[in-house]
This record gives sequence, structure tokens and C-alpha cells, in this order.
Amino acid sequence: MTVSVLKVPNHSPLHILLIEDNDGDALLIRKMLERVSPSTFTILHASTLEMAEPEYQKQTFHLLLLDMNLPGISGMEAVEKLRRDLPYTPLIVMTGLDDEQKALGALQLGAQDYIVKGHYGNNVLPRAIRYAVERKRYENKVVELVHFDRTTGLINRDHFMERLADAIAQAKTSELKLGVMLLALRRFKEVTATLGHEVGQGLLKAVGTRLKECLQQPNAIARLEGDEFALQVTGPLAQPENLARFAMKILNAIEEPFEVEKYILRVGGSIGIATFPECGQDRSELLTHADSALHRARQNMNSTFQFYNNKLNHELNERVNLEKELRQAAGGDQFVNHYQPIVDLSTGQLCGMETLLRWQHPDRGMISPAIFIPLAEKSDCILYITESVISEAFRDFHEFSGDIPEQAYISINLSARNLQQRNFMYDLRELVSKVRMKPSNIAFELTEGMLMQDPDKTIKMLRACREYGASILVDDFGTGYSSLSYLSRLPLDILKLDRSFVSNITTNRHNMVIATATINMAHALGLKVVAEGIENRGQYELLKSLGCDSGQGYFISKPMPKDEFRSWLTHHTVGTR
Ligand code: C2E
Ligand code: MG
Ligand code: MG
Repeated sequence: MTVSVLKVPNHSPLHILLIEDNDGDALLIRKMLERVSPSTFTILHASTLEMAEPEYQKQTFHLLLLDMNLPGISGMEAVEKLRRDLPYTPLIVMTGLDDEQKALGALQLGAQDYIVKGHYGNNVLPRAIRYAVERKRYENKVVELVHFDRTTGLINRDHFMERLADAIAQAKTSELKLGVMLLALRRFKEVTATLGHEVGQGLLKAVGTRLKECLQQPNAIARLEGDEFALQVTGPLAQPENLARFAMKILNAIEEPFEVEKYILRVGGSIGIATFPECGQDRSELLTHADSALHRARQNMNSTFQFYNNKLNHELNERVNLEKELRQAAGGDQFVNHYQPIVDLSTGQLCGMETLLRWQHPDRGMISPAIFIPLAEKSDCILYITESVISEAFRDFHEFSGDIPEQAYISINLSARNLQQRNFMYDLRELVSKVRMKPSNIAFELTEGMLMQDPDKTIKMLRACREYGASILVDDFGTGYSSLSYLSRLPLDILKLDRSFVSNITTNRHNMVIATATINMAHALGLKVVAEGIENRGQYELLKSLGCDSGQGYFISKPMPKDEFRSWLTHHTVGTR
């Protein structure tokens, strides 16, 4: 957490939180303080520490008055908790007459003063309050000087190192993940050299503010020295994949221009990352290794991050970069649909086609959907992608329509996020009306896993699709763990027998038994079966003899771009209209 020292107002009123279980004592204190001057103090009374906590989480108090004899918690524990939760708020404890030792203990734990209950004569209480506030103000000033960086208001190196040591100790016992990031600005020296020290300081302050905006969880951010910042991340955010994404988020934020005085400044950043326990056992080792990773990141021409661990570094950089490129490319012309024919096994006639997306990356070449679809599914990117896959597929289908049987379907692979989309059906209708497509020519492929997630929503969506006239195919059937009784209750049309059962069906008895059972079961439930991945005549003939309705695979044809698919249609189809 980026702590900021509490500023106690120079002038009244002082807002006081009184934690006292005895209502009579509380009333007495309130009366006494009001007598001094009703506008000097405002008091909120809580009978227990549990009742006080939500209040001090919600609002700022300038002073805490704590009864050391609360039920259910020792006085010392109560002081410790308040010092932990509100380290910068002045605290006065109230003890009994014989509790001198307790009172001293409380002072050692960080209370500013103590008063003996009932001994409130001579304005003791208001004076103690004023005194405690002044004393804490001074203490806070010292804390500020010792722990905080004056330019940015962030914690400084020493305090960061203390926090890191605490976090490591905690991570060792709780097995929590921990990551340390070092961020250095690019072009900072140019800024100070050309625009002066003041602008440079303004820039550092603005960077600090932006970093704070990036952190949602209570993690530490420090300015170490010069243009170098450090971040400590714990918990789930410290998983390497999340750290990589977080680093990218910070770099993107730093890439945005800064407005300092009258200048618009563009600086970038470089980040070095070390994780505990993989990259170091103690804080100095972690920081040294994050620093050497930072050194590598700085050698790159662009804003980038590096992990100390090389292998991880390579994999995560690849993935995060690909994700970024995917977001930029989504919906653009780097994506094209390929189509794979699905034929009726008994007649050889085309009965459908599956739309399979391809990413033609300008530098990396063709990237498989098996790689980029899971990345796109992590963000809303998949929604844009599906939308453009569908509209391109419908347009192309329209072009194919003269060469295919009237009842042939075009299937689209959906992802789990599409099922959650509220306006999916609405958008579909819109699109269909534009391209003059018949709903009965549309099919959607969903995997078993997707069908099992959020059953209520899924059923609703499937019903809506069905009522509309589109068909539902269960993709990769046999690879999931779906319950057959559940599947039988879903509005489905076709099961796609997974390629893994088809690939050695002629040699592996086991697979043949599974394929036979699947086909029979599907038929008994009124469903049809498509066999995926038929690669040779043996598989084709065997599946046909088992009564499998239709199939797709390299033996029939690989997925093809639109033009190739069209010419395939004219050369290969049997019995078109
Ligand atoms: P899928 O839906 O199960 O698609 C079948 C995959 O098997 C395709 O891989 C296809 O090219 C491949 N295949 C077809 N016949 C054969 C064969 O005879 N032998 C072999 N070895 N493979 C064959 P592809 O195109 O790489 O797609 C992989 C997966 O990516 C698809 O599996 C699908 O789940 C997903 N995908 C593709 N396009 C989209 C899309 O537009 N949206 C979504 N959400 N997922 C998509
Ligand atoms: Mg599919
Ligand atoms: Mg499949």
C-alpha cells in the first residue's frame, strides 16, 4: 500500500474516535470535551474495537481514545491493532488507577499518551489531546522525512527494502507469490538536460501518480533514486503471467504523454522483473536480479520488460507481445476464414462446411488458432473476432450458394465468452438480415466444456439459437467430461466425434468401440454424428460402415481459403442442385 502520512489539522475541530465499552464513561468524556468548546471536538463513540473498525476504515479521525479494558481483547492487543491499522493517527489510552505498567506498555507500542480514568480534572483530557496531536504531528514529519520521497510522495528505497523484507518473510511462511519490478524511464536524462531540473521533477511526480493508478491492490511502490521506481507485488498478481501483463499495463501507461508545466513529454519505460523464490532468496538478491533484468530491458529499442529468469522471459514476452498484436489486428485484414468441407459419408455429397480462422501475421507467418484463440479468449478481443468471422462466413456462404445443396450448413466455432454475450442473438439476426441468409444454413460449434459451464445461461442461449432455426454441434466430443444425462437434455443437433478417436480407429479396438458407442448413442438421442479428422480411405470406410452420418478431414480436403473452396466445390461435389 502506498501510505500517506495523516495530516492533522492545525485548527479544530478534531474528529475523535472514542472506543469505550462503558456508556457512562463515554458520556462523561463527551460532556467534558463539549464543555471545553462544542466546536473544538467532534466525537464518534464505538463500544468495541469491532464496531470501531468499519468506522475508521470509512472516515478519517484525528485522534483515537482507547479504553485499555475492553471485553474480549487485551489492552495491548487493542493498541497493537490500532497502531497497525492507523499508524499515523495519534492515540491516547485510558487506563485504571493501578494500570501504570499497562500504560507504559502502550506508550512503548506507539501510543502518544495515557490518562487515568476518572481523573479528568484541570482540563486534563483536552490538554492531553492537544499534546498527543502535536507530538504525533512531529513524529509523522520525521516518518515522512525518513520513509518518503519528497518529489513523488512515494516511499523511498529504505522503506521499500523494509517492506520487501517483511513481504519475503510472509511469503516464506504462507507460500504467497512475490514479484519485484524495477522501472526506469527512457529519455528522462534528455528531459532534464533540455528542459531543466524542475520539469524533470514534475515528470517524476506525474509518473508516480500514474503508477499509483495502475496498482489496485495494496502493493508497495517506491521511488529509489533518479528515474528509477520499484514495485512490490504479492498474491495472485505475482504469478509470472500476471506480472507480465501488469508490466505491459505499466509500460502502456508510461508511454502515454505527460503534461508537465507547459510541455507535453513522451517518455517510455523499461522494466526488470524478479520473482521470489525463483530469482533470489533475500531482498538484496531479488533487487540485484531485477536490476540485471532491467539492464537487459533497457537495451531494447522499445519499451519492454524482461524477467530475470531467461526461459520464462522468452515465453511470457512472446505471449504478451502476441496478445498485444492480436488486439491491434483483431477485426482487420490479417484474419481470413478458411473452410473445410463436411460430407455425407454414404453419398459423398457436401452437407456442410466448418469455418476455421487463420491469422496471417505479417512477420510471424501463419499462426494457428490453437495458439491465438485461447489468448483472444482472455479479453473481449474474442468478441470482435467472432463477429468478423461470422460476417465474413455469411458473405462467403452467399457466394458459394449456387454450388452447394440447399440444406448445407456453415458452422462457426464459438467460444465460452460468446455464450455470455447478452446481445449475441440480436447481432446475429441483424447480420443475417443483411446478407439474406437462411437461419437453417447456420450452425454453431461448442465444445463439451463450454456446454458444462454456467448451464442455465447456456441452455437459454441454445434454445434461442434453436428457435431461430440454427443448429448446434458439440465439437471435440469425447474429450470432455460431460455427463451424458445432462447432454441428452440439451437442445443439440450433431455430435462431432473427436479426431483423437478417429486417428487410429482402424488399428485401435478401443477407439473403434468408443466410436461405435458414440454413434449409436447419438442416434438413439436423435442426434447426427460428424467424424473429425478423417485422413485416409480406411477410416472413411470404417466410419461409414459404423453408420456415422458425415465426416471431415484431410482425406476429403484440408481447410481452404474462399477461392480454393469454391473451385473445390465445382470439382468435387456430387449431386448438387
Ligand atoms: P476444431 O473446431 O476442432 O477444428 C478442427 C481442427 O482440426 C482444425 O484445426 C482443422 O484444421 C483440423 N483438422 C481438420 N481435419 C484434419 C485432419 O484430417 N487431420 C488433422 N490432423 N487435423 C485436421 P485448426 O484450424 O488449427 O483449428 C484449431 C481449433 O481452433 C479449432 O478446433 C477450434 O476449436 C479453434 N478455432 C478455429 N477457428 C475458430 C474461430 O473462428 N473461433 C473460435 N472460437 N475458435 C476457432
Ligand atoms: Mg470446430
Ligand atoms: Mg473439433
